[in-house]
Amino acid sequence: MATDLRLPTHKIVRPDKDRFLNEENPFEAMMSRFDRAAELLDLEPGIYRVLRNPEKQIIISIPVQLDNGDVEVFTGYRVLYNTSRGPAKGGIRFDMQVTLEEVKALAAWMTWKCAVVNIPFGGSKGGVVCDPLKMSAGELERLTRRYTAGIISILGPDSDVPAPDVNTNERVMAWIMDTYSMHARHTVTAVVTGKPVEMGGSLGRREATGRGCMFVTKEALHHLGMPVQGATVAVQGFGNVGSIAAQLLQREGCKITAIGDRSAALHNPAGIDVEDAVRYVKQNRSLDGYTKGELISNDELLTLDVDVLVPAALENVITSKNAAKVRAKLICEGANGPTTAGADAILEEKGIFVIPDILANAGGVTVSYFEWVQDRGGYFWSEDTVNERLRDIMTRSFRDVLSLSRQHKVNMRTAAYMLAISRVSTVHKLRGIYA
Ligand code: GLU
Repeated sequence: MATDLRLPTHKIVRPDKDRFLNEENPFEAMMSRFDRAAELLDLEPGIYRVLRNPEKQIIISIPVQLDNGDVEVFTGYRVLYNTSRGPAKGGIRFDMQVTLEEVKALAAWMTWKCAVVNIPFGGSKGGVVCDPLKMSAGELERLTRRYTAGIISILGPDSDVPAPDVNTNERVMAWIMDTYSMHARHTVTAVVTGKPVEMGGSLGRREATGRGCMFVTKEALHHLGMPVQGATVAVQGFGNVGSIAAQLLQREGCKITAIGDRSAALHNPAGIDVEDAVRYVKQNRSLDGYTKGELISNDELLTLDVDVLVPAALENVITSKNAAKVRAKLICEGANGPTTAGADAILEEKGIFVIPDILANAGGVTVSYFEWVQDRGGYFWSEDTVNERLRDIMTRSFRDVLSLSRQHKVNMRTAAYMLAISRVSTVHKLRGIYA
C-alpha cells in the first residue's frame, strides 16, 4: 500500500519563516518562491518537507597539476536535488563565484524546470570554483577529468547526466564522457549532453536555450498584443544564451537596441547588427572594444526603455535596488535566477510581464533530453526535427503556465512553480516513501 504522506496537521511549518531573507542568497530566493507556490497548492506538509531538502550533496577536493608543475587544489560540488521523476539532470559551471548554496539553488531550479516542460528528469547541478579564463586547455582537461572521477559513483545515463553551463562547453562534455567511459570500460554517450555532434551530441543543442527564449518571447508578445516586428530588445549577457537569443529574435524581426557582457555594454537605438557583434566576439573573446553603439553601464542596460529585456548572464541582476527603474514591458529570463525574490513584487506592481527562468531557459535541457533519447536509441534526428519538437514543447509549456496563472490569478513565476511542484509531488505521492 502506498504510504500516505499527509501528516496530522495541514499547516506548513517553515523552519526559517521569520528569518530575514538574504536577497543575494540564491537558495533562499528559490525557497521563498517555492513556499509561496506550496502554500497556494496547499501542499501536504510531508511532501513539503521532502521537497525542501536536496537528496544528495557532494563536496570534493580536486588536485590538479598545473602547467608550471605546481599542484593546486580546487573545490567541486554536485548536488542532486530531486530524482523522483527520473535521472538527475543539470549542468556544470566553472566559476569563481560558485558556492554550495548556489549549486543547491540551481539543482532545485533544474528540478522545477524539467517538471515545467514535463520531461522525465529530476534536477541536479555541479560547479567547480575556478577561473577557467586563466587556465590552459591542459589544466582544464585535468581539472575536468579529476572532477568527473570524484563524482563518478553518482554519474550515469540512469542516475545523473551533466551538461554545459556557465564557462563549460562541448569540449568539457567530451572529456567527461571519455573519463566516464574509460572507467565503465565501454563508450557511454548518454552520460552527458551538450557533447560535440561527432560523438553523440544533438544537432540544435548549442542554440537550444537561446532558441527556447525566442519561442517564449514571441508567445508572450502575442499574449500582450505587441507586434514581434520592430519590438525593441536589450540583452544582458552575450554568451551561449544571450548571443543566440539576440540573433534569433533579430531574425524574427525584433530590433536589438542593446547588448552587453562582462566587459562592456552598448546601446544603439537604430539597432545593433547582432551577427556582426557575434563575429567580433569570436575574434576578440568579448565585446570590449566593439564600437557600433554608445557605451553604457550594465545597470543602464537593465533599465533601458525597451519592449523586451533578456537577462542572460548570472543570478541577482534585477534586485530590489534597481527593479523600480526597469522600463521593459516584458522580461525573458535567459539566465537562472537573474531576478531576486525582492524584485518580484516590484516588477509585478509595475505590470511587467516576466517569463520566469524555469520556463524561459528550459529549451537547453529540453534538447538535452532529445540528445539523451537519441543516444539511447542510437538514432539521430535532423536539426529541423529537433527545432520543431523544441518549439512544440516551449509553446505548450508557455500556454500551460499562462493558463494556470489566469486560473489562480498569480504571476507567471508563481504559476510555473505551482505547475512544477504539483507534478513532482504527484510522483512522490504515487511512489510513496520507501522505508
Ligand atoms: N545548464 C543548462 C540549464 O541551466 C542546461 C542543463 C541541461 O541541459 O542539463 O538549464
